[in-house]
Amino acid sequence: MKKGRLIIFSAPSGCGKGTMLAEILKDKNYRCSVSATTREPREGEKNGINYYFLTRKEFEQKISENSFLEYAEYCQNYYGTLLSEVDDYLEKGTDVILEIEVQGALKVMQKRQDAVSVFIAPPSINELRRRLKKRGTETEAVIEERVSQAEREISQAKNYDYIIVNDVLENAVSDFFAVMRAERLKSEFSDDIIK
Ligand code: 5GP
Repeated sequence: MKKGRLIIFSAPSGCGKGTMLAEILKDKNYRCSVSATTREPREGEKNGINYYFLTRKEFEQKISENSFLEYAEYCQNYYGTLLSEVDDYLEKGTDVILEIEVQGALKVMQKRQDAVSVFIAPPSINELRRRLKKRGTETEAVIEERVSQAEREISQAKNYDYIIVNDVLENAVSDFFAVMRAERLKSEFSDDIIK
């Protein structure tokens, strides 16, 4: 049986990553890895579904046990991908999506060179600012901080295999499936056809 593909999926806040992932995950061949974090759960978030919510002590214990494929500190909290969320599923042929920020993504690219990396970009910085304002959940200062953070993240986008601009949701989702379709046809993953 063919192993699943490991997919790195990063996007600055406000790029519609959540909506895109919800569409992609309707296809049951894909699974999104559940990360561990030390941040507080937001309203409605459940342990083991959205994240594994750990204390700093528990998280550091897992670091010392080498339980993570990668971890990073982001906005004063730890976030990490547990190996147990990745390898068993890949072995069973499921494609595993890691929804992670840029520092963690760069680590996975180094460790797993067969991973496919996809960066989701906004159509423009002004459009990103407009979308964040429309959400109406953050103050002007927080919005500007998110916009600067997004600019820093976008400057790393060239390290990814693919950049998908999320202007129209259906097009962005269809671009993602096109990427995965092409990836499956790469000669290096076709040793079962051509020996
Ligand atoms: P949030 O707190 O909004 O859920 O996530 C904040 C950031 O952490 C997002 O950019 C998200 O992609 C990233 N993130 C979530 N899980 C992981 C992880 O396991 N590793 C890394 N490096 N980043 C993560």
